[in-house]
Amino acid sequence: REPGSAAADLFERARRVLPGGNTRTTVYSAPYPPYAARGRGAVIVDADGEERLDFVNNYTALIHGHADPDINEAVIRQLADGVAFAMPTEHEIALAELLTERVPSLQQVRFTNSGTEAVMMAIKAARAYTGRPRIAKFDGCYHGSYDFAEVSTQSSGKPGEDGFPVATPYTGGTPQAVLDSVVVLPFNDIDGTERLIEQHRDELAAVLIDPNPRSLGLYPAEPAFLQRLREITRAYGIVLIFDEVISLRSDYGGMQSVLGVTPDLTAMGKIIGGGFPVGAVGGSAEVMSVFDPTGGPPRAPHGGTFNANPVTMVAGLTAMRKLTPAEFDRLATLGQQLRAGVEEVLREAGVPGQVTGYGSLFHIHLHQRPLADYRNSVLSAQERAFVGRVHEALMGRGIFITPALFGCLSTPMGVPEVEAFVDAFAAALQDARG
Ligand code: PMP
Repeated sequence: REPGSAAADLFERARRVLPGGNTRTTVYSAPYPPYAARGRGAVIVDADGEERLDFVNNYTALIHGHADPDINEAVIRQLADGVAFAMPTEHEIALAELLTERVPSLQQVRFTNSGTEAVMMAIKAARAYTGRPRIAKFDGCYHGSYDFAEVSTQSSGKPGEDGFPVATPYTGGTPQAVLDSVVVLPFNDIDGTERLIEQHRDELAAVLIDPNPRSLGLYPAEPAFLQRLREITRAYGIVLIFDEVISLRSDYGGMQSVLGVTPDLTAMGKIIGGGFPVGAVGGSAEVMSVFDPTGGPPRAPHGGTFNANPVTMVAGLTAMRKLTPAEFDRLATLGQQLRAGVEEVLREAGVPGQVTGYGSLFHIHLHQRPLADYRNSVLSAQERAFVGRVHEALMGRGIFITPALFGCLSTPMGVPEVEAFVDAFAAALQDARG
């Protein structure tokens, strides 16, 4: 990344027409990001010709890596038949059938164009179903850009007068009415969560939770905590929404089948579109009936020019069919090897750290504080700087990973890619320590 590089030139052009040269906050990195030229399988190539093993996979969406031949073939066939119609297609039925067969809580599904919209429609469905106005979500958790879901995406870091997290705006100008509509809960704190839900039980339409939140360092909801959350939401008639936009890739039946807790609604995205823009909300037929137009105007109307567009549907169907239980097992074994390998490197180097993650997901933490508490995932300036140096060293050593050192595997990967990662990580740690 030097002056005169292709990335520098592209960024120069981008700055004139895109604010800060950017149209997706997530992919900005200072002084400017690498630009993608192409990808194939596990490899991504940037505009300056640098090849890296891709452990980002478009933030977990590309479970089959880049340019998967089967997905491409299905998409090309669809291109020839037309890409969008103001009529439903058979493809959306097939993908909904696949999802309802696999994911325990799903009886019915509706497609959206992003995970943000999936969370948004889940919340709207819960409001329409219960007739209640407020939602509860967990401090520090990311669920996309819907006003209500993005409250306290970044924790205020400080408890309020009652000792509980405060509803904190994420975007400038967030209306007070939005903040007042969201009860912010402490993750993995059974007593605190129970007290707050009880206090607001008659106004709460939904509790929204990511069972394994990336933003809290991939430390999962503890089973007893999740179980209790299920019991109290059921007892008070509150809709329990799981955000499985990322965690669906953890297992054949999603994270809910691993944890054995069944939500009322699930928001999905990423892998179910085979690399194309997608989201879905699904759940019990009873709650999902708010979308049903057959008996007159639905309680929760949901249009969308590109909902269930056939290109995404055929790509998603092809991608999901390739994800057999055996393939999930293979990815989980590789994930375990990577996590264990990195832990060993940290131990041998005498660098304090830990690795979290489940299945094909991993997150490297360069500190040893317990992660179960949401406050501990916040890094000091010194820790952030060290993570930044390790990230840069990994990028220089042919590994593409997120700046937070969160990453994931894809099916074109095998043992050689995992070993390459662990070796590069050992060298990057040395580089970063100088
Ligand atoms: N929920 C979670 C847990 C996510 O990680 C994301 C995106 N990374 C979203 C929701 C929003 O999905 P999208 O980017 O497709 O709108």
